[in-house]
Amino acid sequence: SSGRSVTVMGLGPMGRAMADAFLDRGYAVTVWNRTASRADALVARGAVLAPGVAEAVAANEVVVLSLTDYAAMYAVLEPAEAALAGRVLVNLSSDTPEQARAAARWAAERGATHLTGGVTVPPSGVGRPESSTFYSGPRDAFDAHQPLLEVVTGRTPYCGEDPGLAALYYQIGMVMFWTSMLSYWQAIALANANGLTAADILSHAVDTANSLPGFFAFYAERVDAGDHRGDVDRLAMGTASVEHILRTNADAGVDTALPAAVVDLFRRGMDAGHAADSFSSVVELLRKPAA
Ligand code: NDP
Repeated sequence: SSGRSVTVMGLGPMGRAMADAFLDRGYAVTVWNRTASRADALVARGAVLAPGVAEAVAANEVVVLSLTDYAAMYAVLEPAEAALAGRVLVNLSSDTPEQARAAARWAAERGATHLTGGVTVPPSGVGRPESSTFYSGPRDAFDAHQPLLEVVTGRTPYCGEDPGLAALYYQIGMVMFWTSMLSYWQAIALANANGLTAADILSHAVDTANSLPGFFAFYAERVDAGDHRGDVDRLAMGTASVEHILRTNADAGVDTALPAAVVDLFRRGMDAGHAADSFSSVVELLRKPAA
């Protein structure tokens, strides 16, 4: 078992917050980072800075990786491959599901176990009980080390054996996060062009965002059933609405790339014969990208 000790490799904002969280819980923490000076504050708190990658890996059964991406993992670990046998690599670096699957094979070939993690919070959320990280990979390794994983984020939803799944759940959250935030920047640009500040529209923006979960829940069952009936909304209505949005943004002189992309998708739905269906029918287009 991992006992009460762990190695953390990669001391960006996330890795440092993780090492701090382990120290807070009384773990013996070994750290390593390409730029060694990033370990200074952790060493002052009692962490041990490993002199090299092989020593960092050898120090503990569980090795938490918090690197920019999976390419960085190979760059770091390849020179110390011989130390990997018997280790559990908890990879909390984000990348694609395919990269996670390849890394799990790569680790297995070297006698190591790979657990994929997708952290859903920024550094300030690390170490908190309400924060969440998706995990996938071997169930027995996940179960054996869950108490340790719980230190990073209190919630540790397990997605399944497929190493790609945690990365997939992470990416599903991120496609929503980045596009939603982009819609917020668009709203602010439109507000600013009309003399309103971000603070002026904040409560309206929050109310709008808070209305979305009701729509998610309403459409989830219908979309899974292939039911795009236009009883509560019609794509023709939605298309008129997004065209008004495009024109409002153009009239204000702000960038129209985002609203134009939305209009383009809605019009493709109209062209595909969905005018009288719900705007949820756009999902059908997204499943089959234009050639
Ligand atoms: P950073 O990119 O700031 O830190 C990355 C770490 O990777 C640093 O320790 C850096 O070392 C190291 N690194 C990068 N490339 C190499 C390389 N080729 N060789 C050796 N070391 C390398 O990332 P964060 O700490 O912000 O995030 C870590 C991971 O967590 C990322 O995958 C990110 O997507 C994910 N994540 C981040 C969140 C956030 O809010 N920041 C939220 C959720 C997930 P050095 O210090 O020497 O440069």
